[in-house]
This record gives sequence, C-alpha cells and structure tokens, in this order.
Amino acid sequence: MESHKILVIGSANTDMVVKTSRLPKPGETILGGDFFLFPGGKGANQAVACARLGGAVTFVCNLGNDVFGKEALEGFKKDKIDTSFITLDDSQPSGVAVITVNENAENTIVVAPGANGTLNAEKVLQLASVFEQTEIILTQLETPIEATEAMVKMTKKYKKRLIINPAPARELSLEILDGLFLITPNETETELLTGIYPNSPEKCLEASTILLKKGVDHVIITLGKEGAFYASKNENFLIKSEPVKAIDTTAAGDVFNGALTLSLAQNKPWKDAILFANKAAAISVTKMGAQSSAPYLKDLTIQP
Ligand code: ADP
Repeated sequence: MESHKILVIGSANTDMVVKTSRLPKPGETILGGDFFLFPGGKGANQAVACARLGGAVTFVCNLGNDVFGKEALEGFKKDKIDTSFITLDDSQPSGVAVITVNENAENTIVVAPGANGTLNAEKVLQLASVFEQTEIILTQLETPIEATEAMVKMTKKYKKRLIINPAPARELSLEILDGLFLITPNETETELLTGIYPNSPEKCLEASTILLKKGVDHVIITLGKEGAFYASKNENFLIKSEPVKAIDTTAAGDVFNGALTLSLAQNKPWKDAILFANKAAAISVTKMGAQSSAPYLKDLTIQP
C-alpha cells in the first residue's frame, strides 16, 4: 500500500474503566464490576486507529512525565507512530479519563486533561516541516482551542486538508469553520453546533446545510448504529453501519475518524471512505476499551 503521511494532533489520556450494571445517579455510590486500565484520549485513539490500518501517522500531543505518559509513548511506538513531536511535560500530570460502562454499553466519561491542556498554539506553529510533508491533518477538541486555531492557520498556509472531529462538543467560531475541509460531529455534537438533533435524513441534511453555509466543504454526521450521513454542496447520502452486537461503544467515533482519514489521505471517493470507516468502527464496538478495540487492517475484509 502506498503510504500517505497523516498528521494527528490532539489528546492522549489513560482511561480508567469500571463496568457497572447501571450508571450511578448524582450523589449515589454503587458497587461496580471489573476494572480496566486502557490507553485512550481522542487524539491518541484516532492516531492509533489510523496507524493500525496502515497509515503513516505522526502524532502530536503533550503527555505528563509520569508512568502513564511513558507507557502511552511506548504504546504509540509499538503501533509504528512517529512520536518525534510528543512532549513529556514536567509541569502537569498525564491526562486521565474516568469511565463507567453499563450493561447496555452506554457510558459516562469525565476527563482530567492534565498535560493535554498545555498543547498550545506555539507548539502547532512550530510544526511547519510536518505540515509541509503531510497529506491531511486530523484533530479533535480535547486540547486548547488556540491550538485548533493555529492548525487552521497552518493548514491554510500549507494548503492542506484539515478534519475536525468536534468532540467533546463545543461551539466553533466562523474563523475555524469557514474554509474547513471536513467536520465529523456525532448526533449530540451536531445538535450543539446547529441546534438540530439529526434523528432523520431530513434533519441530517438540515443540520449539515447550516455547517455548509458557514463555509465547511464537507460534513459527515456519525449516527451510531445507524451509520453516517455525508453532505457537501453537491450531494448527500447515508451509509448504513455494519450490523454487530455492541459490547462497548467507547471510541467508535475515534476509530471511524482514524479509518476515514486514512482513506481520504489516499484520495478515495467519499462513499468508499465512509464504508471503510463504518466497517472499522463496527469492529471496535464489539470489543472493550478505546485503543484496545481499534482493529488492524488484517481484521477487515476491505482495504481503506
Ligand atoms: P461517537 O463514538 O463519537 O459518539 P458514533 O456513536 O456516532 O460516534 O459512532 C461512530 C461510528 O461508529 C458510526 O458512524 C458507526 O460507523 C460506528 N458505530 C457506532 N455504534 C455502532 C453500533 N452499535 N453498531 C455498528 N456500528 C456502530
């Protein structure tokens, strides 16, 4: 496979997961089941998903100079990710996420960002050589928004394609949206960005149109087990997901974005890229964890 360089910039966390029969209510203590420690963080998950499927990935993040940070770094190297631009920050602990998952595979997640919060604009602006050589850039919203703004600036300067997976949900300025290559919100993120909950193809189109009018070139709304909806000024369509028995949907969106970016880096048509991303994400929901559930190319029956 021809390797196209992919730059992922974002967060890395350690996920602490407890399985429970149900999610606790505020103020309530419940006895959980098994406990798992998983490498996670949306940026790291997406970088790992992309690399495992064959992408030549450079991942940029800030880790704490602690046990979790060092372990995460080793994990990235095992997945053949270029880690040259990862900082081990002495001033902050590594980011952690505290996660509960119930029997219906629903979850609650609280993130303590730690070192992720120190990934600033300056660091992004220093990545000129990487931006120059990369095909496509993928990011999320778990790192400071000033870093995202710097990515927008750099992708415009070097005429590259930027994909923003707007998670966790927050409002985005016109400076970020106008001229953006692709945005990939899930249902709740779509509602926050547009005021429309995308629970039908008509609503998906309505919500996408709002984002297209703000200057985004392409919109993909991920719809959980329903699949994903694509829209540009020229066309729109829904690609259904793969039917599977979901065990844990943590990081389904991350695997989707990692796989999608790989396909788009190879200039595949939108339908093929979304089909590939749906298939990779469907495999991930049949396994526990974030990076631990990201499939390898050999697990898929189709190529990116
Ligand atoms: P997020 O994890 O960001 O909330 P979604 O829940 O929309 O994102 O899921 C992202 C993608 O993962 C979907 O578009 C779909 O391809 C796949 N996916 C998610 N849940 C399931 C499921 N239960 N069965 C099959 N595929 C799924």
